Amino acid sequence: MESFTDDVAIVTGAGSGIGRQTAIAFADRGARLVIADLDVEGGEETVEEIESDGGEALFIETDVTDAEEAEKMVEAAVSEFGRLDYAFNNAGISGESAPLADYDPDQWEAVISVNLTGVFNCLRAELAQMQEQEDGGVVVNNSSVLGKVGFETGGAYSSAKHGVLGMTKTAALENGETDVRVNAVCPGFISTPMIDDSDDLAEGSEARTEIEQRHAMNRLGTPAEVANAVCWLCSENASFVTGEALGVEGGYLSR
Ligand code: NAP
Repeated sequence: MESFTDDVAIVTGAGSGIGRQTAIAFADRGARLVIADLDVEGGEETVEEIESDGGEALFIETDVTDAEEAEKMVEAAVSEFGRLDYAFNNAGISGESAPLADYDPDQWEAVISVNLTGVFNCLRAELAQMQEQEDGGVVVNNSSVLGKVGFETGGAYSSAKHGVLGMTKTAALENGETDVRVNAVCPGFISTPMIDDSDDLAEGSEARTEIEQRHAMNRLGTPAEVANAVCWLCSENASFVTGEALGVEGGYLSR
């Protein structure tokens, strides 16, 4: 297991699903955490879970669509813990399911604003801090397999996730000769509230079985499987990895 003893990590969308599990994984490896989420109850539960296992975490209510709130999130990490070593820009929403020709423009805006602009707002604030401090840092953005291929009825989501990969590669180039690395993970479908609570993909439904079958492993992934990949990308073992879009997708794209 990687060791992040006394390092400092921010995880956005850490009140649920992949974000919560990744925050716990960072804490298990010794990091101190800033838990950022719109969802106050979920965020505080994550903090409690980390603290009950002897870890250190601070919740800061953050709407990633607001650039100032993203800056305050980074400021909170620095004022509480002194620096920022790792950031996982994970907060996201699925948005409505509809073909692009019928896609509601307000829904489009909402998805782009959280899943693309939200990542930009956080990345911008995190890079400023990491470039300024000694020893740099590592950013991981949460894209998706749908950042590499399209998905019928998920046009806004897939567009935003493709955009996250462009942003990741650009940030990697801009910081290549510094101590700052920037990567993305591209999870397949993962069992989290985003999927399990959706009307379309409820457990036991035919649509869920069809989605499972799109993965060579014929199952959905777990949040812990994504968390492990994020921790690896942040570790010294990935010291020559930047600008990468790492699939964690059970063979979804192998077909
Ligand atoms: P989740 O369980 O719904 O968790 C997402 C968290 O982000 C929630 O706590 C949510 O709060 C929060 N959030 C939403 N909008 C926010 C905002 N504007 N500012 C701050 N926090 C906000 O979803 P998940 O499945 O773990 O997804 C996490 C990330 O993984 C997303 O970016 C998603 O696109 C990506 N991903 C998921 C899958 C999958 O199959 N689950 C696959 C590939 C990629 P509320 O509950 O209050 O909205």
